[in-house]
Amino acid sequence: MAEVSLRGVKKQFGPVPVIHGVDCEIEDGEFIVIVGPSGCGKSTLLRMIAGLEEVSSGDIAIAGKVVNQVEPKDRNIAMVFQNYALYPHMSVYENMAYGLKIRGLSKEAIRERVDRAAGILQIEALLERRPRQLSGGQRQRVAMGRAIVRDPAVFLFDEPLSNLDAKLRVQMRVEIRKLHQTLRTTSIYVTHDQVEAMTLADRLIVMNAGKVEQIGTPITLYEDPATLFVAGFLGSPA
Ligand code: ADP
Ligand code: MG
Repeated sequence: MAEVSLRGVKKQFGPVPVIHGVDCEIEDGEFIVIVGPSGCGKSTLLRMIAGLEEVSSGDIAIAGKVVNQVEPKDRNIAMVFQNYALYPHMSVYENMAYGLKIRGLSKEAIRERVDRAAGILQIEALLERRPRQLSGGQRQRVAMGRAIVRDPAVFLFDEPLSNLDAKLRVQMRVEIRKLHQTLRTTSIYVTHDQVEAMTLADRLIVMNAGKVEQIGTPITLYEDPATLFVAGFLGSPA
């Protein structure tokens, strides 16, 4: 059974259609990258999966259950944004613990989850710091830590590295991939960066102007692009 299913998913803002009908089955443990130029509808699609935007028509299912009417907090997903949105007045520990506190977990359970995530991300030494005392890369790790402690079925990333400088971006890309090898959590990752997409993805969804151009592995898309757009965008020789 697919972990996330999109069936005929469309979105319009007022009279303007923005997503023209997306069908895709995302398997448990897959790392899927949604890639396409700015404005093609990547964030809108991701926000619909998160429940931050309603679908105009079609169905989104997570773990076999249609979630169109399910609140974001009850969807068993965690989202990592490009602006890390950490609480400036809270320590790293408190930032990571906050969502768990709201969910009513015990102090001990929270400590255990935060320590585990901090270990995975190697930020144990930063737990008492405030966000302003962290570098961009460290903040990004804390943002991922906040997602990991929730132990979601699906991670959603919206261009999480786009505020980092080029060198750090490459480094974090490797770390995100490693994190995925460790946790094996189904991940849906949005970027406009072709290289980032090709390095991270098990499969890519290439979007253009609200439509899916092609879905496939990096090799398939590179060697056998379905459209001129895919060939041009991914830079293959077709
Ligand atoms: P991407 O993330 O690929 O850059 P978006 O999903 O943000 O693209 O946007 C896709 C299209 O939808 C754009 O034309 C954008 O202007 C439009 N759009 C996004 N959000 C809204 C909104 N809340 N109201 C109206 N139009 C929107
Ligand atoms: Mg976007």
